[in-house]
Amino acid sequence: MRSYSTRKRILVTGGAGFLGSHLCERLLAEGHDVLCADNFFTGTKDNIAHLLPNPHFELMRHDVTFPLFVEVDEIYNLACPASPVHYQHDPVQTTKTSVHGAINMLGLAKRVKAKILQASTSEVYGDPKVHPQTEDYWGNVNPIGIRSCYDEGKRCAETLFFDYHRQYGVRIKVARIFNTYGPRMHPNDGRVVSNFIVQALKGNPITIYGEGKQTRSFCYVDDLVDGLVRLMNSADDFTGPVNLGNPGEFTILDLANKVVAMTGSTSKIEFKPLPSDDPTQRKPDISLALRILGWAPNIPLDVGLPRAIDYFRGCGE
Ligand code: NAD
Ligand code: UDP
Repeated sequence: MRSYSTRKRILVTGGAGFLGSHLCERLLAEGHDVLCADNFFTGTKDNIAHLLPNPHFELMRHDVTFPLFVEVDEIYNLACPASPVHYQHDPVQTTKTSVHGAINMLGLAKRVKAKILQASTSEVYGDPKVHPQTEDYWGNVNPIGIRSCYDEGKRCAETLFFDYHRQYGVRIKVARIFNTYGPRMHPNDGRVVSNFIVQALKGNPITIYGEGKQTRSFCYVDDLVDGLVRLMNSADDFTGPVNLGNPGEFTILDLANKVVAMTGSTSKIEFKPLPSDDPTQRKPDISLALRILGWAPNIPLDVGLPRAIDYFRGCGE
């Protein structure tokens, strides 16, 4: 355990969500005081119920689109629905969460001189014309489509982070997170890994959107959380943006076949229409993360997927 003098007070917004709950766990294990602020839009108390007895963990119901006045040393800003189904449910609120949320959390960081990390996304690259994606690529994003509330909200949040840094000297860190999966993903949140596993376990058809030739790169949650912590602890002059993800690239059809094989499912594949603006390819170039943070993922899909499957089996799905 850390002594009082080295114990940091850390705010995790969106701390009751999938990534946030794992991050809170990791920060507590490192001996810090963790304040989790969440409005429970997609996160649940179940995700952090096991942390509640810990006196160094505090849970606060709060919507980041409203100002927050707390005293902290570091802020991880994760609050935002991440699955297309959820972020398209109330697109105006999604943009507000990214933009007003960033303004409020950056304002807090400025007032209390805290370091602040933004959970940005590979979606800032849109449907990328550069492959694999490097941080200097500006992206190919539709500003008026159904994914724009998320993509443009996150892009604007990045702008705000860099302007608070340049204008007020706020210490910022921007992580561009690529598709991440693992235990505590919401079984109904519509993301591909959780959808396929739940469908396979129930023997329901595996729903592939389009022909399944689009690619994604899947990072196991423990690797991703390690990258976020390393980024927060990096030298103050390193702001990012930095890609965090697993460069292993798979088609959605590959993923479906793996899930069926690993679960021993009898599910058949069913092809459905491809949603608009669905990116055709995605794979992070992680050389910057490797060079500056000494970070690369350790858990390949063939190791991580069975762990996620075990979790969903335990959910009774
Ligand atoms: P999640 O939906 O499980 O978690 C998001 C959390 O934010 C939830 O607990 C939700 O209740 C909370 N939240 C939403 N709006 C809020 C608001 N206005 N005020 C307070 N809390 C609010 O999603 P996740 O996968 O854990 O994603 C966490 C962060 O990482 C998000 O910002 C997301 O954009 C980013 N990210 C995730 C991935 C991924 O693959 N998981 C990829 C790229 C970026
Ligand atoms: N997808 C799919 N079937 C599903 C859910 C998603 O084929 O049941 C596809 C989706 O069209 C996209 C990919 O899987 O091409 C990843 O989707 P997800 O929603 O997980 O994340 P994102 O598109 O934001 O990367």
